[in-house]
Amino acid sequence: GALVRSDLEIARAATLRPIVEIAAAAGIPEDALELYGRYKAKIDLSRLGAEDRHGQVVLVTAISPTPAGEGKSTLTVGLADALARAGKRTMIAIREPSLGPILGMKGGATGGGLSQVLPMEDINLHFTGDFHAITAANNALCALIDNHIFQGNALDIDPRRVTFKRVMDMNDRALRSIVIGLGGPAQGVPREAGFDITVASEVMAVFCLASSAADLKERLGRITFGYTYGRRPLTVADLGAAGVMAMLLKDAIKPNLVQTIAGTPALVHGGPFANIAHGCNSALATTTARRLADVVVTEAGFGADLGAEKFMDIKARYADVAPSAVVVVATVRALKMHGGVPKDALTEPNVEALERGFVNLARHVENVRKFGLEPVVAVNRFGTDAPEELDAVVRLCRGAGVRVAVADVWGRGGGGDGGDDLAREVLAVLEAPGTLRHLYPLEMGVEEKIGTVVREVYRGAGVEFSDQARRTLQQIHENGWDGLPVCMAKTQYSFSDDPSLLGAPEGFTVHVRELWPRTGAGFIVAVTGSLMTMPGLPKQPAALRMDLDDEGQVTGLF
Ligand code: ADP
Repeated sequence: GALVRSDLEIARAATLRPIVEIAAAAGIPEDALELYGRYKAKIDLSRLGAEDRHGQVVLVTAISPTPAGEGKSTLTVGLADALARAGKRTMIAIREPSLGPILGMKGGATGGGLSQVLPMEDINLHFTGDFHAITAANNALCALIDNHIFQGNALDIDPRRVTFKRVMDMNDRALRSIVIGLGGPAQGVPREAGFDITVASEVMAVFCLASSAADLKERLGRITFGYTYGRRPLTVADLGAAGVMAMLLKDAIKPNLVQTIAGTPALVHGGPFANIAHGCNSALATTTARRLADVVVTEAGFGADLGAEKFMDIKARYADVAPSAVVVVATVRALKMHGGVPKDALTEPNVEALERGFVNLARHVENVRKFGLEPVVAVNRFGTDAPEELDAVVRLCRGAGVRVAVADVWGRGGGGDGGDDLAREVLAVLEAPGTLRHLYPLEMGVEEKIGTVVREVYRGAGVEFSDQARRTLQQIHENGWDGLPVCMAKTQYSFSDDPSLLGAPEGFTVHVRELWPRTGAGFIVAVTGSLMTMPGLPKQPAALRMDLDDEGQVTGLF
């Protein structure tokens, strides 16, 4: 068969333009550019000028993910390239990848095939150092907390109730639960602690929801890091640490400009987890892209029940990013899995299974409309898709009255003609855009907000709270945090909290085990099922296939 080139090989064969040229074409003045080499730059927002095109936001989301892979990032990049090719002034806003999943198994987050952002090796590795800065800001707070306890503990911090953890951008299960301060009186006060992965930290969520440098500092100050012996919440502002944390983030907070293979400008900035946080790039990147472009293509993590819901109910409340159109990515392979086909049989054509699995896509489409927005289904074409299967998805979508286009942005590129049909459908929606409606008002109680998401979006019968979650509900009420939106931490594989229930399950109960107030980010995390805030490496870590050759070239990075 034909030789399939890896994402890295395709990326390396591409010719990059100097980032100053990309910036100039995007309307970014040269003195607003802070160069990180020839192909990466940060943007100093204070030098951007007053022009604001107030571009329309297109949110890319997906059906419930399966191990077959959906290709949201690939579609995001490819759609933007296709819109640019259609003559629209377009910009991308997407997340920065985390080293943990890269060294583990997931792969990168820079798209794939001919729809990638470049330089992919840099973006997938240390990039411009943002995650290291976030790690440092997070850990400075931890050092200040433990030092405060050691130095006499004037704030009365209960060492058993410090909820804020150290972080590292790595998958390292050995650090999940540790004891610190061992070695005698001079080494600190011993207490149980642990590490999370950097992208799971509240600092990352704050970073991504902040609307300005001033807002960043305020939100950092509002982080609850623990409780007193009397169970009173303690904030970063109580400790006086917001200033130093903001200082450590002073450059990181500036959005990073890069380019796609086709030369479309892309802001790649911030990258919070999609479960315990909202799972999309920084608000500043999206609002900056809106100032510069007429159309901004951005992505939310996981399926539309999680990423898109949080985009609408969390991010779009805190930042001026309400979408005008929503693209729901589906694949023939994933729809067949939702129809009951096992992963190893996905290459065989099976229209019947696909028709069964369509219920998953149909429900996500209905859900998008509940937010007042018009969805466009993007079928991400794989080489193994049979023509009759692609026809079937298109027929089913048309039958359900939803716009649909098959896209081959992976194989032909959006800069080629692989995304033209999709771009046409999206532009038609942008001509008559919807208006975002939030799912619930903020005045609604936390318990009712969770119930609304479960019934309206997941279509469950109800919610069951553990005793511990009930106690936290009470504390949330006592501490005056009822007005915050909820951030659901649920498996991405199912509408329910049971990852094995594919398709469109009904009548299930969602179990809320714990509630984690994130008062800096500004949401209450509702934890259903088990949740990993510090992942581990798999038996065969992707890291062991990676190398650096004698010419200094990266190999084995996907
Ligand atoms: P997601 O954003 O949904 O996690 P990505 O866009 O990162 O997915 O894609 C995951 C992987 O799947 C990448 O390696 C990408 O090259 C590959 N991929 C995506 N779309 C296709 C396609 N149409 N054909 C083949 N491989 C694809």
